[in-house]
Order: sequence, then C-alpha cells, then structure tokens
Amino acid sequence: MDSTDDSKKGLLIVISGSSGVGKGSILKKVLGRRKNLKLSVSYTTRKPREGEVESKDYHFLDESEFLEIASKGEMLEYAKYCGNYYGTPLKALNEELNKGNNVILEIEVQGGEQVINKVEDVVSIFVLPPSLKELAKRLSKRALDSEEVISKRIAKSIQEINLSKRYKYVVINEYIDECASQILKIIDAETLKFPRMKSKIEEILKDE
Ligand code: 5GP
Repeated sequence: MDSTDDSKKGLLIVISGSSGVGKGSILKKVLGRRKNLKLSVSYTTRKPREGEVESKDYHFLDESEFLEIASKGEMLEYAKYCGNYYGTPLKALNEELNKGNNVILEIEVQGGEQVINKVEDVVSIFVLPPSLKELAKRLSKRALDSEEVISKRIAKSIQEINLSKRYKYVVINEYIDECASQILKIIDAETLKFPRMKSKIEEILKDE
C-alpha cells in the first residue's frame, strides 16, 4: 500500500465467507447503494464460467502468467483455492483507493488473512451461512459445479468458518436484504471514524 494522506484515501474492505453463502448476490445489492464503492476485479487461473466476462468478473490468466505477476509483487495477496489461483491486482487497487473510492475485495480466507496482516486499518467482514445444511442446499441449487466440487467446497467452508475469528465483523446471510444493509452500516460507520473525517474537518475550518 502507499503513503497518500490516509484520511483522503478510500477504505479497503475485505469480504470473505464460504463459497455459496451468497457473497455475489449480497455484493450486487451493496454496490448499487453507495456511489464511491467499487469491487476489485481479481486475477484467476480458473476457467470462465458460462456468462462470465473478462475484466468484469475476473482477469482470466493461465498459471504461468499468474505466477509471473505474483512474483513481481504486483498482487496485494494471492492464494490457491480448490485447485486454482486467485489474487488481487495491487496497482488498480491503489489507484481506486487514492481517488478516495472505497474498494471491496471479495476473497477467500487465506487471502483475507494476508490482507489483515498487511493492512492495519482494513475493514474485514466475514459472511456466515445460517447453517451448513442451508449452505449445501444453496450450492446444489446454484448448479455451477459438479457434486465432487460441491463436497470439496463444503469441507473447505468448515475450515474457513473456523478462521472467521481473524475478521473484525461477522454477518449472517439468512435474509439477503438484511445482510446487505448490515454491511452498508459497517461501511458507513467505518467511513465516519475520526481519522477518516480529518480532511473533511480541515475543509470545513478553512471556510471560516
Ligand atoms: P469462484 O471460483 O467461486 O469465483 O471463487 C472461489 C473463491 O475465490 C471465492 O471464495 C472468492 O471469494 C475467492 N476469490 C476471488 N477472488 C479472489 C482473490 O483475488 N484472492 C483470493 N485470495 N480469493 C479470491
């Protein structure tokens, strides 16, 4: 991360949670509700799913391209998840934060942990399913992955939930609107903390 005046920089928000918990749908609701809120577009070596668009859903790379970018230090974090690499492009992220935009990283827990360790004032939010039974139901209904991949993802989810203690906030996605509104409240409260309001206060005093 770089050293621009912190009070003018946007918030870095990490959202993690089990695959299938509904992060994508929650984020669609959250993103439309604040105009300076952006979603970081990750690099991945996963093959595009039907309907996914290059540079909108992910930057799709092959493994050697991904590892080259990672080795140059051009990712804030990266991790291997269910056989594929995923990582956050650092330059694009810093550009958005320096413009004062709040940026959401929707990433799994190994990457989340790296960001929590690197960025002191990151706003980390973990999204839980109401139950594991409900999670299994949502993954099958989504029908994006084979049965084998689904059982891999559920086993992984249990490990991930155990890491939720590293996060600052935990929300439960039982009702999607309520969950989205809780995330917006967290973001709003974090942006109103004194250190983030310093430049606004200075601006107001300048007009005296
Ligand atoms: P999917 O393959 O379902 O799109 O994503 C699988 C997992 O990778 C999800 O838990 C998602 O949050 C995570 N993910 C997406 N982008 C990134 C990233 O840039 N870094 C990390 N560490 N995880 C990511």
